[in-house]
Order: sequence, then C-alpha cells, then structure tokens
Amino acid sequence: MHELPATKGILDVALEAAARAGSPPILAIDIVVGELTSIVDDSVQFYFDMLSRDTLAAGARLRFRREPALGRCDECRHAFEVRPPLTRSCPGCGALGLSVTGGQEFYVESIEVADEGARGNGDPEGERPGSD
Ligand SMILES: [Zn+2]
Repeated sequence: MHELPATKGILDVALEAAARAGSPPILAIDIVVGELTSIVDDSVQFYFDMLSRDTLAAGARLRFRREPALGRCDECRHAFEVRPPLTRSCPGCGALGLSVTGGQEFYVESIEVADEGARGNGDPEGERPGSD
C-alpha cells in the first residue's frame, strides 16, 4: 500500500517540472524503480490515474525502469548486481557479509510534455510520434 504516497510524490515532482516548463500537458513520465523496492508498477499507474485527474498529468503514461542494487563482498571485494531474492552470501567466495547499496530508488527520471507551439526551449529529445 505504500505506492499511494510514493505515487503522490512522483506526481508532485512531475507537476512541478511541467510548471517550470510553462505548464504543457504531461504525456509520459519516466520513473526509476529500484529492484529491491516492493513497488508494483500496476499499482503506481492505478494511483497515478486517480491522483492526476484534473491536473496537467491526467492521462500521462508511466514508464518504469528497474535499477539493480549493487552488492559488494567485504571479504574478496567482488562486486555484483543484486536482484531479489536477496542473497546473503558472496557468489564469488561464499563469505557472509555483503554491503548492498542502491535498489531502493523511486524517483522521476524525466518527463515528456506536449510540444505546443514548438518554441524550442530546451528539450533535446524532442517528440517521438508513433511510438507505441
Ligand atoms: Zn566474496
């Protein structure tokens, strides 16, 4: 159930970014989600549709990118990507005692807004019509 406040945060960030860009409608939002979070994409989209009603982000599509966590063995310094289920021992030497960093991300990476008027103020990616 923690998707609700998390989604609210995503919406706030997106709306703020859109406001700074002159308040164009938001078409899509790219979101980075750590592999070790229990965030469920569908739940986020569900809450987003609910929360974004009557805002610039109404109808925006959410695009999720999973970010792996990084584990490092305290013994042999072996570094590797960690995915659930979380391992407790080093795949290199078998030692216990891993330092795991990352994997808990949940943030807006970028937003895609409607290009009304095309005044060319700063989106290097531009429009990509016809994707999907
Ligand atoms: Zn090791």
